[in-house]
Amino acid sequence: MPTNQSNNSELSNSSSSPGGQHNEPLISLRGVGKILRTEELETHALSNINLDIHQGEFLSVSGPSGCGKSTLLSIIGLLDEPTSGQFKLKNITTEKLNMDQRAQLRSTEIGFIFQSFNLIGDLSVYENVELPLSYRDGIKKDEVKTKVENALDRVGMTHRKRHYPGQLSGGQQQRVAIARALVSEPSLLLADEPTGNLDSKNGEAVMNLLTELHSQGTTICMVTHDPRYADRSDRNVRIFDGRLVDENIRTESADKLIVA
Ligand code: ADP
Ligand code: MG
Repeated sequence: MPTNQSNNSELSNSSSSPGGQHNEPLISLRGVGKILRTEELETHALSNINLDIHQGEFLSVSGPSGCGKSTLLSIIGLLDEPTSGQFKLKNITTEKLNMDQRAQLRSTEIGFIFQSFNLIGDLSVYENVELPLSYRDGIKKDEVKTKVENALDRVGMTHRKRHYPGQLSGGQQQRVAIARALVSEPSLLLADEPTGNLDSKNGEAVMNLLTELHSQGTTICMVTHDPRYADRSDRNVRIFDGRLVDENIRTESADKLIVA
């Protein structure tokens, strides 16, 4: 609904497009397919995916193992390219970009969270979160410090900034990974089974954090196996054998957003 989208955009703290473009989706996939080829096998990992994600949305993607969820997230996160169809990010047709341009767009627009946290064990919590900014030209040391401290504060991990990943629980490591994904203030947070390696208590804490970030304006696309967690999103899409088969919009949550 247009009212809802414009309201979400106002809530968003990420850089929004200039006025009057609130109906333009942040992400748009049209007829997207992905064929993965090995020497002997050809797998249709995705077929004819049509999907829009708007700024301020919390979308979940579910479906059985091997159905193509991670492949979809990799394409949206510019880690992989479709073999057919069109993928636009902020109205930019991504197939025309070269590798450097893709990397640049990924580093400013996308934050990625993985099931296995993917923190670097030799770096402290602070240094892990600082890492995405270290590739930025011309950023001042003070600015880096402020951004890293803000990101750690948002996930409640400031008190562990000198610790190393091996000294933290799984739930704490995932919070640090979320801070690392947020530090560059991306337009979109992508999460691939973010609670998959956590016990239910830590999983719940990470879900509460994602829900809180969404209520503060972060746009999220999350892959999950768990129907309880899919229910926490505004909209759930289901994939089966590489195809979108079902879409479920939670108007109740959308209404809450309008009120907020
Ligand atoms: P999901 O995340 O839903 O479990 P994936 O997106 O990882 O599914 O995989 C989709 C399909 O693509 C699966 O059949 C998987 O075996 C296949 N696949 C994934 N990665 C590769 C690869 N690198 N080479 C060949 N096939 C792959
Ligand atoms: Mg997967």
